[in-house]
Amino acid sequence: MSYTKTTYGRMTLNQTAKIINQARKENRNTLLENEAKTILTEYNIPVTKFNLAKNETEATEHADRIGYPIVLKIVSPDIIHKSDAGGVLINLKTKADVDNAYKKIIENVKKYKADAKILGVLVQEMAPQSTEVIVGAIKDPQFGQTVMFGLGGIFVELLKDVNFRVAPLTAEEAKEMITQLKAFPLLNGYRNTPPAGLDALVRIICNVSRLVMEQPEIKELDLNPIMAYPKGAKAVDARIILE
Ligand code: ADP
Ligand code: MG
Repeated sequence: MSYTKTTYGRMTLNQTAKIINQARKENRNTLLENEAKTILTEYNIPVTKFNLAKNETEATEHADRIGYPIVLKIVSPDIIHKSDAGGVLINLKTKADVDNAYKKIIENVKKYKADAKILGVLVQEMAPQSTEVIVGAIKDPQFGQTVMFGLGGIFVELLKDVNFRVAPLTAEEAKEMITQLKAFPLLNGYRNTPPAGLDALVRIICNVSRLVMEQPEIKELDLNPIMAYPKGAKAVDARIILE
């Protein structure tokens, strides 16, 4: 990860500002996953290791460097829900798997949307399965930047068991967002799932709060899912939408 700062006159641009400027120039308001994850890294939010590949050879080279198993995902400004497009293939265990998966993803996406602009495939570390949680943010017209926390899957979609707090958040408030969920006991360990460490989740929530406060152009942010482990947590998917 590079933290190089470029100075234009008196203004100092970091990666985050550069990425947002670039999207603006291209008239995009949805950031690509690699762009969103670069911003997250700059805000100390842990993400799966990733690298953009433009062809099969680059993909296998990145995979060798990152280590197996590997996940490949389509990178296209025209594909927002990547799995709907057949654009996510997980648990690739060998170089040959990665090579085939690259071709398969391009084929799937072309079938799904013939004119989709394909920028490449994101090669990433596969995060071990664990409890999935979601951290989001929306810019509420009345309250401004608002942060959301919930458990993954049916808990958010079906049961609407989520908590919202207006940013900026204290660590105390972030912790409450977690412990006041109805499904909170599940985070303490359930069947085959180990308990999730709360500190890492609190840190992610606070850093998301700081990110959206410092970047008021962000209209929507969605880390879905984040894998929560006994020690640490990692965002495996990231979406950022600008105003
Ligand atoms: P989208 O939400 O755009 O369809 P995701 O990046 O969320 O795509 O991928 C779909 C699913 O694949 C995730 O919900 C997660 O279960 C799994 N997944 C994606 N990336 C990884 C990863 N790096 N490690 C482990 N699982 C992953
Ligand atoms: Mg997702």
